[in-house]
Amino acid sequence: MTANKDPETVSITIQCLKCGETFPAPILVSPKSKVDSSALAKNMVQCKHCGEMTRCDKENVVARFEDGTSIGNDEI
Ligand SMILES: [Zn+2]
Repeated sequence: MTANKDPETVSITIQCLKCGETFPAPILVSPKSKVDSSALAKNMVQCKHCGEMTRCDKENVVARFEDGTSIGNDEI
């Protein structure tokens, strides 16, 4: 068995930079190769909790994949 090099995305979670709560990204980018390319950068999303716009980049976003890998901040 060889590992799937381009697994489907299971979830993308964003941590609000204003209130610290986490919420799912409004758009689920899949598979992994598309997340790698640019999807996590240069987007502003509205926090579901406090309503503020928050930046998303690899410091406050984690994308998890069906093979158990992740991109971004896995502490979220
Ligand atoms: Zn918030």
